[in-house]
Amino acid sequence: MADLSTAALTGTTRVAAVIGSPVRHSRSPLLANAAFQAAGLDWAFVAFEVAPGSAREAVSAMRTLGLGGLMVTMPHKADVIDHLDRLTPAAQALGAVNSIAWEGTDLVGDNTDGPGLVASLRTDDGIDPAGLRCVVLGAGGAARSVVWALADAGAADVAVVNRTADRARSAAELAGSVGRVGDDRDVAQADLVINATSVGMGAAVGADGPLPLDPAQLGSALTVVDLVYLPLQTPLLRVAEACGARAVDGLGMLVHQAALSIVRWTGVSPDLDAMARAARG
Ligand code: NAP
Repeated sequence: MADLSTAALTGTTRVAAVIGSPVRHSRSPLLANAAFQAAGLDWAFVAFEVAPGSAREAVSAMRTLGLGGLMVTMPHKADVIDHLDRLTPAAQALGAVNSIAWEGTDLVGDNTDGPGLVASLRTDDGIDPAGLRCVVLGAGGAARSVVWALADAGAADVAVVNRTADRARSAAELAGSVGRVGDDRDVAQADLVINATSVGMGAAVGADGPLPLDPAQLGSALTVVDLVYLPLQTPLLRVAEACGARAVDGLGMLVHQAALSIVRWTGVSPDLDAMARAARG
């Protein structure tokens, strides 16, 4: 296994990074460096605080410095687009980029959040969204990417439930003919419910807390996924388990959305278990 101490960094080490503001809390360095070490790759990953409005300079720095890859977080996800050479279909549809990779001399923007969730459902949980009735709670950045990816994966129905109606409509449109605005009652008819609101974030571990849905709608045939990963065991997942539903936490998406970037940057499929261990801390 490669040693990521400073002594192991040499003139050949490739550097990848996350840009954002604020960025100090990011788990991306933990995940990516664990992947590089486990694969014995001569790569290192750092976080750059990039002020709002400086996306152009950051992309230009990627070209000038020959950075091997960039992850992009708030507030730059839309701003980087004008400075890239191309976008993947996901990034194009969403108008948001969370990952930039080289393809030859081109910089290509991708959005791996929703595809990361679908990959984790398939790989870790044995759930293929194809043909499933899905409810997505929330209509922010994570929800939009998940809605797009579920439709891309062949979901039969994607109902978006959000407290702000016009944002729900806009997110539902990303699923094309299978997308629609839903309400709480859709949960009882669904196969898969995904909480992509921030409700539950920061809740005390093991405690009751606010829920993003009416628990009376939960049943044992459901799989409930909570994208919130701080804490991993959210009030929603506790209630879902108590109702006999299958509960899936946000760690899988966190790992897989990073892994999709790393494989594009390095050509190596990273060790997902090593990444998950690093993310758990
Ligand atoms: P965002 O863009 O700020 O969207 C937040 C969403 O939550 C909006 O739909 C908002 O509704 C809704 N919301 C917030 N407070 C609410 C409340 N009290 N009641 C009902 N709805 C509420 O955030 P985001 O970036 O999409 O992230 C959402 C969550 O996903 C966060 O917890 C984040 O940590 C998590 N996430 C996880 C991963 C992963 O890899 N596991 C990746 C990305 C994000 P309105 O539209 O009405 O304001």
